[in-house]
Amino acid sequence: MALSEFGLIARFFTQPLKNAVNQLGIGDDCALLSIPAGYQLAVTTDTMVEKVHFFPDVSPYDLGHKLLAVNLSDLASMGAQPVAVTLALTLPCINEAWLTDFSAGFLALAKKHNVDLIGGDTTQGHLTLTVQAFGLVPKACALLRSTAQIGDWIYVTGTVGDAGLGLKIKQGYVCDNPSEALLQFNQPQPCVAEGLAIRPFAHACIDISDGLAADLGHILEKSAVGATLDYDLLPLSAPVQRYIEQTGDWALPLTAGDDYQLCFTVSPENAPLLPIACQKIGQIEAESGLRIQRMQQIITLQATGYEHFSG
Ligand code: ADP
Ligand code: MG
Repeated sequence: MALSEFGLIARFFTQPLKNAVNQLGIGDDCALLSIPAGYQLAVTTDTMVEKVHFFPDVSPYDLGHKLLAVNLSDLASMGAQPVAVTLALTLPCINEAWLTDFSAGFLALAKKHNVDLIGGDTTQGHLTLTVQAFGLVPKACALLRSTAQIGDWIYVTGTVGDAGLGLKIKQGYVCDNPSEALLQFNQPQPCVAEGLAIRPFAHACIDISDGLAADLGHILEKSAVGATLDYDLLPLSAPVQRYIEQTGDWALPLTAGDDYQLCFTVSPENAPLLPIACQKIGQIEAESGLRIQRMQQIITLQATGYEHFSG
């Protein structure tokens, strides 16, 4: 017999609560959270739509992982500690094998970050997945986009362009060593620990979802500043370097999305205090706009990343 909506929630999504913040989880009309004194609740939501955000042939495990990862990445970029998520599922039908793998990917990443699934909604329709994520951050300590200072150094965690290369591989580019790039594309790891670690030192921060140039551009606009990036300082993996040598597509690490690394700004005085591995890639300046220094030239990028409704 087909599972009912309630059977589905009980079987695939109901887990014991682990965080003291979450006082009531799945099963009532609302979940209840108790916010500790001195903290703010950071709230974010992200939706993934089939054929827009993922291919119809995506593995359901990877999809569950990525759906949660992109939301935890938003919390990471604010320096918030994730505590809870809700999950709104719109499914064309109840496919138990699909739900088994999807929930396994979702809940494995939730477990890794000690996040409770506290509620959601389940409806029938075109495959659409929405998560809302909740995190805690000490009052007035969240890392914003609007607080970069002229003279700050600009840093990124990890390497950039790997998820973009993963997408190119999916689209037919032949790579000797595709596994790392595909893993980065299919199962990005949100930089939660990094966001918490840099919080006392950084001025502004964003996660790279739409591409380094576009996302850094948001910091520049919100902070009313500009920047120059030194292309030669960009941290690139060996497969991305090889891809650029072979294709000439040097803009990929600047324009490709889905890396979910953090890009942040720090005063030169605080830079030596940063407690994580990260790469300095440029500096915040008074002159507005984003300039890329590459091969003794200064380039201004035109198309900076993926935008919905862009025509
Ligand atoms: P309501 O009719 O009040 O919206 P529902 O019948 O939609 O309640 O959901 C019953 C309970 O199951 C609620 O606590 C809700 O938060 C939870 N829930 C529904 N769908 C999901 C889901 N996909 N994941 C987690 N919890 C869910
Ligand atoms: Mg409901």
